[in-house]
Amino acid sequence: MSTAPNDTAAQAALAIALGPEFAALLAADATTLPPDEYLSQEEIADLRKLLLIELHHLMKSGQDAVKDLVEDRPVESDPVDVASDESDREFVLRLAGRERIMIHKLGRALERMGEGEYGVCETCGSPITYKRLKVRPVATQCVECKTHAEQVERRSRDL
Ligand SMILES: [Zn+2]
Repeated sequence: MSTAPNDTAAQAALAIALGPEFAALLAADATTLPPDEYLSQEEIADLRKLLLIELHHLMKSGQDAVKDLVEDRPVESDPVDVASDESDREFVLRLAGRERIMIHKLGRALERMGEGEYGVCETCGSPITYKRLKVRPVATQCVECKTHAEQVERRSRDL
């Protein structure tokens, strides 16, 4: 880049003008701030694939769970079997509820991608790192905000 030497010179001049303490701050800023934490087009495409695979998987397993429930209901007279059957049913329904929430989150993430808001923290606007999104592609908050929100939630639960 042709502007780099000029920037460095300007920074050096500024450091001299501001004194050694500010010079240290200036240098620290330059090294600790990554050039760009927002997602690249390739990273977004990669995460989009993850979201779609997970969505497909959930839709399919949701359908299977409902199918199992409908098809594999044996006619039982033993009360113990009936009881375990009931809890199976409850389990499947609860699972279906969780899956519905997850499907909603995945859809929301894809929507945000379309709006160009994906990978940006909903609370503070900071970039959510690619590393975090690889693990949790539906994340809508950066680690700091998520941690803070969880602490607040935990505190209000303890009251
Ligand atoms: Zn945040």
